[in-house]
Amino acid sequence: MIFNKKMETMPREEIEKLQLEGLKNTLKAIKNSGSIFKNKYKDIEPEDIRTLEDIRKIPILEKDELRKAYPFKHIVVDDEKWYRMHMSSGTTGTPIINAMTKKDIEQWGEIMARCYCAAGVTGKDRVQITPSFGLFNGGFGFHYGAEKIGAFIVPIGAGRTRLQLKFMDELSTTAICAIASYPLRLMEVAKEIDFDFKKTNLKVAILGAETWSNELRERIEEEMNVDTFDIIGMTETGGVGMGIDCEAKNGIHIWEDHYIVEIVNPETLEVVEDKEEGEMLITTLTREGLPLLRYRTRDITKIISRDKCDCGRTHLRVDRLKGRTDDMFKVKGVNFYPSQIESILMKYKNLTPYYNIVLEKVKGKGAMTIIAERKNGFKHEELERLGNELYDFLGFHCNIQIVPEGTIERPAGKAVRVIDKRNK
Ligand SMILES: [Zn+2]
Repeated sequence: MIFNKKMETMPREEIEKLQLEGLKNTLKAIKNSGSIFKNKYKDIEPEDIRTLEDIRKIPILEKDELRKAYPFKHIVVDDEKWYRMHMSSGTTGTPIINAMTKKDIEQWGEIMARCYCAAGVTGKDRVQITPSFGLFNGGFGFHYGAEKIGAFIVPIGAGRTRLQLKFMDELSTTAICAIASYPLRLMEVAKEIDFDFKKTNLKVAILGAETWSNELRERIEEEMNVDTFDIIGMTETGGVGMGIDCEAKNGIHIWEDHYIVEIVNPETLEVVEDKEEGEMLITTLTREGLPLLRYRTRDITKIISRDKCDCGRTHLRVDRLKGRTDDMFKVKGVNFYPSQIESILMKYKNLTPYYNIVLEKVKGKGAMTIIAERKNGFKHEELERLGNELYDFLGFHCNIQIVPEGTIERPAGKAVRVIDKRNK
């Protein structure tokens, strides 16, 4: 089902016309504002933007620049127009605040409504929203979209896993929205209390905010008996809902009438060809409080296609996010993302979805230990096979520790998978 047929199936030429207009307007809005970034764009005028390619004349915006503008120096509209704020988690430094206007909240509702419909969720559904309603944008974003499509909302928020399961059963919820690792907790508690997902009406899980491998995805779909959809978006871009995969499951559509996507080489910052992997830059076209020009998201992906999708939508598709440039690790000269290790581990059905990657310095050299949990037994042959597979991928031997189920800590929020002790 398509929420906004006119916009979502618009021919590419028309999308690009809108983008060119939106790009100029965004640049104009920042230049005419009291934002700290006024100066950043002093050498470029909206008239200099004649084609979409001219976007490359605009300097790139770094996360640190937004951090330094804390709390509100980067906000483009006057404070009387501010409506509400959300904030990035700030676990790695000063947080970034997005002060949103009423129009921003409406834009959010629109793109979230599109995401729900892409996941097959309609006004007839009962939606259980499990991310928190607070500074983190997840809860509210899912709420606005559900409101817009007229679904019945169960705004339970984060935690209380037993109650979540009880609601799924007793309130007959049909769709669940969550941080990508939360289903692991649901699955685990379900086992403890003999809860059978197959006996519920649950059919869809919309998951995001973390990188999750295809193998983990399969496991969630199988164990929870749901179809999953991968949703993306961040506080800076206006929250969850910037894009989602559709029933064709062939990449994540990004709503191009609201955002321009570019993929650049993370070192040279040059735009790369379609189908080539790199870091995603986002330009917002319709956001008022915090418009962004060429913002470095740090997410690694590639443009899969700009052609019309089997679902009928014409908006381009990017690959599922592989990781963020900040969580790429280098051990013994090899670069890798935790999601790539996860892909290998999750092929072993005897392992739980919980794991840790421990990085250490031993005698001045990098060493890596993978701690994985076994469900029942984990045979010696399996351990050998796992070791070989990891060696094939990494090109060096790492230590593997198989521990009993329940050994690895279950975090309340986002999953902590890598423990880096190298600088301690
Ligand atoms: Zn599609």
